[in-house]
Amino acid sequence: MSVAIYPGSFDPVTKGHLDIIKRAAAQFDKVIVCVMVNSEKNGLFDHPERVDMLRRVTRDIPNVEIDSSNELLAHYAKRRGATCLVKGLRAMSDFEKEFQMAIINRKLNPGLETIFLPSRQNYTYLSSSITKELAMYQVPLDAFVPAEIAEEVQAKMDERLGR
Ligand code: ADP
Repeated sequence: MSVAIYPGSFDPVTKGHLDIIKRAAAQFDKVIVCVMVNSEKNGLFDHPERVDMLRRVTRDIPNVEIDSSNELLAHYAKRRGATCLVKGLRAMSDFEKEFQMAIINRKLNPGLETIFLPSRQNYTYLSSSITKELAMYQVPLDAFVPAEIAEEVQAKMDERLGR
């Protein structure tokens, strides 16, 4: 069985992430989307909330599992029996960092391959950070995050800003 891991911070999951999840799910028997606890930036949502949102927006894709981990990614992949990491690429700026990570991950876990999926054209501008920035200005989020979570992303930002 081919198992791939799609790691990230998903704070929150965007339509760009969901597109990569669907495309990866079409290529592998199983895709584990993993919220990486160690890649923490300044979070809006805590990790269980991110996992919960990912579960809701992927519930119709049977071969996708949602998990979270604070392990080193290369070790997590080995423990889960995955042979491949999936990364989405939006621009050349993503590529430099991801290329370096791919080499390091293969050094740490020689059986581990990384594949890059190019971002769909209309999502190349999209990131979790830009989504949060737009929520600060109460711009409607439907174009950026899956419909099921748009309201709660706005509500969370409003709560954070004391609105
Ligand atoms: P962000 O950069 O939005 O905070 P993450 O750190 O959670 O996202 O990214 C997880 C993975 O998803 C990375 O491989 C990243 O390159 C990819 N990714 C993020 N946004 C998009 C997008 N709009 N289209 C394609 N891939 C994306």
